[in-house]
Amino acid sequence: MAKYIFVTGGVTSSLGKGIIAASLAKLLQARGLRVTIQKFDPYINVDPGTLNPYEHGECYVTDDGAETDLDLGHYERFLNIATSQANNVTTGRIYQTVINKEREGAYLGKTVQVVPHITDEIKRRMLLLGEGGRYDIVITEIGGTVGDIESLPFIEAVRQLQWELPEEDCLVVHLTLIPYLRAAKELKTKPTQHSVKLLSQEGVHPDIIVCRTEKPLSYELRRKIALFCNVKTEAVIEAADAPTIYEVPLAMMREKLDLICLKKLQVNQYHEPELGKWKEFLDKLKYPKSSVQIGLIGKYVELQDAYKSILEAFVHAGAMNECKVNVVNIHSEHLTQSNAHEKLGHLDGLLVAPGFGQRGIEGKITAIQYARETGLPFFGICLGMQMAVIEFARHVLGLPNAHSTEMDPQTQDPVIDMMEEQKKITEMGGTMRLGAYPCAIRPESLAHRIYGASLISERHRHRWEFNSQYTEAFEKAGMVLSGHNPESGLVEIVELPGHPFFIGVQYHPELKSTVEAPAPIFVHFVGAAKAFSESKGGSRSHAGIKKSELI
Ligand code: GLN
Repeated sequence: MAKYIFVTGGVTSSLGKGIIAASLAKLLQARGLRVTIQKFDPYINVDPGTLNPYEHGECYVTDDGAETDLDLGHYERFLNIATSQANNVTTGRIYQTVINKEREGAYLGKTVQVVPHITDEIKRRMLLLGEGGRYDIVITEIGGTVGDIESLPFIEAVRQLQWELPEEDCLVVHLTLIPYLRAAKELKTKPTQHSVKLLSQEGVHPDIIVCRTEKPLSYELRRKIALFCNVKTEAVIEAADAPTIYEVPLAMMREKLDLICLKKLQVNQYHEPELGKWKEFLDKLKYPKSSVQIGLIGKYVELQDAYKSILEAFVHAGAMNECKVNVVNIHSEHLTQSNAHEKLGHLDGLLVAPGFGQRGIEGKITAIQYARETGLPFFGICLGMQMAVIEFARHVLGLPNAHSTEMDPQTQDPVIDMMEEQKKITEMGGTMRLGAYPCAIRPESLAHRIYGASLISERHRHRWEFNSQYTEAFEKAGMVLSGHNPESGLVEIVELPGHPFFIGVQYHPELKSTVEAPAPIFVHFVGAAKAFSESKGGSRSHAGIKKSELI
């Protein structure tokens, strides 16, 4: 039987509940327990797949093809274990299940209500991962802030579970903010008191209070919070701002968050935390020996959360290379032929990001042309790979109108086209090519050197593909199609052998990068950027590649 830890948040959003939950999970895992984390989101969308990245940041995709909240990315990056559809549940999905059951007549003529029917379905899903003996501990993060109307059924479900489960099988951690008033030179506990009061009014009593704070919490302050919020003083945990999210597990260990949880849950079988690999990574991260500038070309660059997994993959890959990766955000809409050198000339590598739709497309193509012609290391992900194909078709194959049918359905040369089975689909949610697919890698290719394997598995999220009618033309002109889906033959990787590092992938390698297993393609890309940076001073253009009018 698994034990359950619930993590709620108060005072304000964006306190980093996901990071605290992931850090606690990491510590428990490091002590030898089998842990998983799940996230319950109070919005009505059935999943975040249809949400604009400006609304909710990146959509994270799991192996089984679920489109999920970006916090699942943190869970995987910290724990190094895969999550699935079951790890992310929204209000929309709960209601969809209950309404479908109602239509099937499953409620036998009863009035279907929030309590008990919605809360029963929430509880069923909260307990699901804990069944079957796979995990010792299931951590559940409740999205939103206590007091929100929409999170009420989730808090009510936690209340019922706190009452139904044996005392030692259930624990609630409440994350709050202790603001520092500069004028008064004081940390203020009142918002935390109010937040705990709200939670108590909803029937849930927290066992542990984690306090986000800019300044250290004194013993007196901890006592005060403990007294007013009715928890033990040692259960008031300081979560000070950290220079990197990867420091947080160690900060939580110093505060004994894991031990307090284990005591309350009456878990006696655990060992000292094994965090050797984690600490090694942190050391490399904190003391890099070199640095590179990598341009991230995208259209959501104002919002960092839109590219969360890519940015984190650079952190992992940078540490592996003992190199600080400075990501320079470049808005694809602002890039033109005439300013390409000014905007890209100082970079050591160029990453063209995933994306959807027309906006900023030409800027991405211009950036890729610049990288191809000057020998600047290039890495294209999903839409970035598709744009590399279009750029090559236009400027090397001499097909000036080449395009993707996503942006130009009438194009003369649809080098990127929609898959046949995708053409029949009219619904938006969950209908892309999603989740993990195998990819067979051509021997002696750059991809083979990167992965050191002939068969890999990576995650996908797209509708369009390389159009196989153009295979011969591309290969003849020097673009190597070095990765294919072994069953369907779909092209997964393209590369240019004459270039120091030029690779585009149809899949999303950033989604599988973790602290303990960084994505190999990011590691090699950063390595190539490092080599490029070291070679600077000499000519940046690469022999055998046509010089552009851009430089
Ligand atoms: N819009 C492109 C497609 O659907 C690329 C998607 C992506 O970059 N994730 O194929």
